[in-house]
Amino acid sequence: MGKLKDIIAELNNNISDIANQEKAVKLRRALMIIGGILAIVGIVGVIYYFAAFGNAGFEQVDNFHSDPTSTFNPIPIMIKFVVSGIIAGIGTTIFKLGLSITIAGVTTKFAGDVLTDKCPDCGTAIKGDDVFCTSCGKQLRKVCAKCNHINEADEKFCAKCGSQL
Ligand SMILES: [Zn+2]
Ligand SMILES: [Zn+2]
Repeated sequence: MGKLKDIIAELNNNISDIANQEKAVKLRRALMIIGGILAIVGIVGVIYYFAAFGNAGFEQVDNFHSDPTSTFNPIPIMIKFVVSGIIAGIGTTIFKLGLSITIAGVTTKFAGDVLTDKCPDCGTAIKGDDVFCTSCGKQLRKVCAKCNHINEADEKFCAKCGSQL
């Protein structure tokens, strides 16, 4: 978990790097999906075993009336309840880690850092629709192969014709 935090901190620190942003988008999505699934499974388990524990208690009361020597072992259900709680906690933590990854355009506060008029790598001024940095060669934008429209480097589909970039 600590290593993952380091990776996220590094991604967030290098938000203006477009390749870095692609990694950030993928990691954020993966963490939010995995964390979300675990959190839902865990929460459903917590509710289910809480109800099961109550049911078992009522059954025990009924059994006690017919057979006073019967005993109720609450440990297996309690273990499942606690394990579900732990899964829910881990899932929520992973989901929050995903949320903490800064995505340009989604996390609007940082959008301006990427759509800057300076090369994110070397700081050279970018003119109009430059696709590559004239100083260091970094790819700044994507040209649509179908209609030649110039799109931002983080866009997945052409803004003009909808082709995959
Ligand atoms: Zn450059
Ligand atoms: Zn296009």
